[in-house]
Amino acid sequence: MKTVTIQLQKEADIVKHSFSLTLDDCQSDTKVIIENAYESNYANGWLNYKPYISKDGQTWQISEKAGSYDNKQFSFIIPAGFKMASWYQPYTITDFNNFAKSRGIENLIETENNIPFIKIGDFNKPTILIMARQHPGETQGSFMLEGIIDELVEIKSKLKKFSFLIIPLANISGVENLNHRYSVEGVDFNRAWNSDNKDIQNLKQIISQIQNKAFCLDLHADEASKKSYIYYGGCNFLPESFYQSLFPKEFMFLKELSRLRRFAKNLIRHKRIVSLAKPDTAKNYFIKNGFDSFTIELVAHTQTPQECYKLGKKLIKNLKKQA
Ligand SMILES: [Zn+2]
Repeated sequence: MKTVTIQLQKEADIVKHSFSLTLDDCQSDTKVIIENAYESNYANGWLNYKPYISKDGQTWQISEKAGSYDNKQFSFIIPAGFKMASWYQPYTITDFNNFAKSRGIENLIETENNIPFIKIGDFNKPTILIMARQHPGETQGSFMLEGIIDELVEIKSKLKKFSFLIIPLANISGVENLNHRYSVEGVDFNRAWNSDNKDIQNLKQIISQIQNKAFCLDLHADEASKKSYIYYGGCNFLPESFYQSLFPKEFMFLKELSRLRRFAKNLIRHKRIVSLAKPDTAKNYFIKNGFDSFTIELVAHTQTPQECYKLGKKLIKNLKKQA
C-alpha cells in the first residue's frame, strides 16, 4: 500500500486540528500518516476518528473505518478511487452562495464589511440571532444552519412571533483561508467579544440592527466529545422550560455548575485546556447585552453533515410548535 505523510499546518503559530489533502494517484488504497497529530490542542479527538473522503471534491462521505492514534501520529486509509481527504466535510463561501442560489434566497443576502448576513421577518418582532463559523473550521455549524434556513423558509409565514438575523460565516477571513480556529489576523473570535478587534466591531455593527432581542444561537463543533451539548445563560426573555423543549434531545444542557464542573474535569483529564471563566465569549457578551444566549456544540465524531442538517430542521420545527 502507498503511504503519504503529512503535517498539520499552523495558524497563528498554533497547530491547527483540521487538515485536507488531495492525492496525485488514487488507483490503490493509500495510508495517510499525520506525523504531528499530537501537537493539536484537541489531540484526544484523533482517537477513533473517521476522516471524510471524496472522489471529486463535491460529494463527501465519512470513512467507514476509524483511523488509529498512538499518542503521536494519526493514520488512516483512503480507499482506492477516493482522491481527497479532510478532517470534516469542507464548507466554503462558495458552498454557502450555491446553497442560497439553489433555494432561491440569494437576494436575501446582505453584506457589510464583507460579512454576509440574512434578515428574515418583521424586525418589530423579537429577533433571534443565529451565528455560525466564529471558529472557521467548524463546518458542522454550516450544515446545521442549512437545515435551519430550509425550515425557516418553508414555514416563514407561520412564525408569527419572531424575526431572524443570520450571520452564516462570522469569521469570513478564517473561512476564506481554511483556518480552523482563528481569523487571518490570529484572533480567536470567541475570546474577543470585549476587545476592540475590528472584525468583532463589524459583527456588533450588524447585530445592532436588532431592536427587540430574543435569543442568540452560536453554532460550534467539538473536536473530541462524543456527545453534543449546549452552554447557555440568560433565560430572561423566555423561561428555561421553553428552551429545554426547543432544542432537540440530542443536546445535553450545561448550566448548573456541578454538572459543568464534572464535565470540565472530564475534559481536563483528557488534556483539553478548559477555563471556566471566559468573559470574552460571544455567549457571555450577549447575555450581558440582553439576549438569552446558547452556544451549540455539535460533535465532529458522531454527527455527519446530514445529521447536523436534520438537527437544524428539528430545532425550527420545535420553535414553530412553541411559538
Ligand atoms: Zn467553536
